[in-house]
Amino acid sequence: METRSFPVDGSASLPLLVSGSIPARFRHGFSTRAGGVSAAPYHSLNLGGKWGDSPENVGENRRRLLLASGARAMYAVCQVHGTRAVRVTAGDDPETVKGVEADGLCSDGAGLGLSVHVADCVPVLIADPRTGACAALHAGWRGTVAGVAEAGVAALVGNFGCRPRDLRVALGPCIGPCCFDVGLPVVDAFEAAWPDAHAAGVVVETPGFQPRIDLRQCLRLQLQEAGVLPEHIDASSDCTHCDPAGRFYSFRRSGRLTGQLAGFIVVPGGS
Ligand SMILES: [Zn+2]
Repeated sequence: METRSFPVDGSASLPLLVSGSIPARFRHGFSTRAGGVSAAPYHSLNLGGKWGDSPENVGENRRRLLLASGARAMYAVCQVHGTRAVRVTAGDDPETVKGVEADGLCSDGAGLGLSVHVADCVPVLIADPRTGACAALHAGWRGTVAGVAEAGVAALVGNFGCRPRDLRVALGPCIGPCCFDVGLPVVDAFEAAWPDAHAAGVVVETPGFQPRIDLRQCLRLQLQEAGVLPEHIDASSDCTHCDPAGRFYSFRRSGRLTGQLAGFIVVPGGS
């Protein structure tokens, strides 16, 4: 994954992390804190509307993301740590979709942008070069245990006839196994879903320390179980919690949510 600068308007530009796994005709990216207008503690590109930042600033930040994405419209849903992925079509009103409870979006509508908001959870972007269909998924630990990655692949297969072996996936910045300490109930939940969670590196235990979870490793396994080829899965190694440059919002580090990042992907065509 590499950082690229995307023009917005005037002299502004947004630095976004882009993945080499996803073909360039699928405009996509993972945002950082840079390039927005929000003031501390939300500085600066906060894309989350529910955490106390001024609506005007969040609106301007979202406008910048939309311009950088080149999408005709950018859709998001009301994330609830589940597995549902909703299909979006050109006639849908982004304001209506925003109220739909789900953790994923999929579409093959030319020029439509699909986005998820995160601050430690994993943003997952999926592109199908054969059909042009895309998906964006929000994967926290609950959604991961519930199978959000498999559900996202199933939504692409069911709605657009995608073949899992064609799919290209990018897993964005999230809280890493370096920092994601969890209690035993969470470990139990992962072990119940994946009996080999320890051997597979999903649950990481070091003597004398709390167990930790590697969400991206777990999502990788799920995607492969769903038929995605390992060489088509790209994962950022960035940790939102301990990034040395503080480039990301982290719910855990802040103790409260002071902003959200976005991962987005745009269905090719339509411009
Ligand atoms: Zn970390």
